[in-house]
Amino acid sequence: MKENYDLVVIGGGPGGYEAAIRGAQLGMSVACIEKRTYKGEPALGGTCLNVGCIPSKALLDSSHRYEATKHELGEHGISTGDVSIDIPQMIERKEGIVKQLTGGVAALLKGNGVDWLQGWGTLVDGKGADKKVKFTALSDDSESTITAKSVILASGSVPVDIPVAKTDGERIVDSTGALDFTEAPKRLGVIGAGVIGLELGSVWRRLGSEVIIYEALPSFLAAADKDMSKEAAKLFKKQGLDIRVDTKVVKAEVQGDEVVVTSECKGETTEERFDKLIVCVGRRAYAEKLLGEDSGINLTERGLVEVDDQCKTNLDGVYAIGDLVRGPMLAHKAMEEGMMAVERIHGEKAQVNYDTIINVIYTHPEIAWVGLTEQEATEAGFEVKIGSFNLAANGRALAQSEAQGSIKVVADAKTDRLLGMHAICAGAGDIVHQGMIAMEFVSSIEDLQLMTFAHPTVSEAVHEAALSADGRAIHAIQRKRRK
Ligand code: FAD
Ligand code: NAD
Repeated sequence: MKENYDLVVIGGGPGGYEAAIRGAQLGMSVACIEKRTYKGEPALGGTCLNVGCIPSKALLDSSHRYEATKHELGEHGISTGDVSIDIPQMIERKEGIVKQLTGGVAALLKGNGVDWLQGWGTLVDGKGADKKVKFTALSDDSESTITAKSVILASGSVPVDIPVAKTDGERIVDSTGALDFTEAPKRLGVIGAGVIGLELGSVWRRLGSEVIIYEALPSFLAAADKDMSKEAAKLFKKQGLDIRVDTKVVKAEVQGDEVVVTSECKGETTEERFDKLIVCVGRRAYAEKLLGEDSGINLTERGLVEVDDQCKTNLDGVYAIGDLVRGPMLAHKAMEEGMMAVERIHGEKAQVNYDTIINVIYTHPEIAWVGLTEQEATEAGFEVKIGSFNLAANGRALAQSEAQGSIKVVADAKTDRLLGMHAICAGAGDIVHQGMIAMEFVSSIEDLQLMTFAHPTVSEAVHEAALSADGRAIHAIQRKRRK
């Protein structure tokens, strides 16, 4: 460890570690301070690699393979005999993937000459040209002060707690606990039908749990396009997820080896008993030990670090990124902000386009979107035109037994400009990248219509959705007058 660096990054999650690597690529001397441990060992990669994106996707993949093997191979003429799942083995695989990736990040930092300081970082004073950062080592709690020309705050987020359902790490858990069940709970309760509730609820349902998801809001997946959330609700119901909207949990209590959950819906009270309860009602910015009393950093009312569009705080040379600041709590948003902040520090004009940040819910089928929903576009004053295409008429989707879902495009009727793309289908998260690229290049619906999409691919449904916006889809009967 040196005493002076060009750049100190506090937090080694996807935002922080990518910023640190980019800083080193640009010739800066860089330290990345990270206090996290994973299964007792210091670990980089933040929420995303340790207890977020990656472990959840590992379990989604295992549970999907199990369910597909059990229920979907018969129609192909494949018989397997009895199918069973060894859940401890599934968890071990997930842990292996986490360790491989977090170890990979450590190797990347080392290879790029970034010092990984294992412990807590606190911005003591960010006002002068030389910023003061206190480092408290994980190993022995020893404290030292380092100085830096620039600092990036990237301390991420933690799950929100609710007083009516206090987690105990055993029966009532947060998303981290739900990644480590050693068996599928017979009955699983989930509070919050958001991204985590749907993803982790799906994992355990596929493995045999009876799942009830409580959602306080009256509408399901309120942030998604309404056509998509309606279609998703139908698909999840068919899969056996019992999603109860407009239902508030008022009490959750451990009684013996059960959790008793009391909920209210339209004045009616219901009680259910579960083996486990997952609380996933959102995440909040995490700033514990991040800022000293004289750091000089402004916070918002919600406890986020205040930043401008370029992630600059109120102090010159101090940036904040990722879940710690405004905007969606997504790993790819944190990564892009990290790179933008470093490039800005280096004097470049980097910018994140917040209008094209993709959302993906990794259920099966996936739900993904980029840009405006039909409702948002209408509210923003656009004269909206939409096109959509059902996967049931897509040859590749049918050939793969993946013909559920649809793709929808939203455009400005006056200029023909693409404003948003929405998909529910296997691989929707990859499909909507086409929309993101098209939007970045300010494409029109006509641009998408004029392109040649390979046959047979699921992407042809994007082409057909664009054609359908003008009544020209070939594999659908179009009521609209053709142009
Ligand atoms: P984090 O990843 O939270 O990293 C911050 C790091 O800073 C932490 O490791 C923390 O230990 C460290 N730290 C905090 N304070 C200090 C300090 N004072 N000193 C030193 N170190 C400190 N997003 C997606 O885009 N796609 C997904 O599929 C997805 N799946 C998810 C699934 C789950 C179950 C969860 C919980 C989240 C998921 N997310 C997903 C969200 C994603 O993980 C976060 O948006 C992302 O990790 C944020 O990155 P970050 O770098 O801002 O913060
Ligand atoms: P979320 O904001 O996606 O969903 C929380 C849900 O809980 C909301 O629908 C909310 O209305 C509901 N809720 C809140 N309080 C409630 C209560 N008392 N009773 C019942 N329902 C209640 O939050 P999350 O699912 O916890 O995920 C946290 C963050 O992690 C999200 O912001 C998301 O961006 C990120 N994440 C992303 C992915 C992904 O990109 N695939 C996956 C997991 C997590």
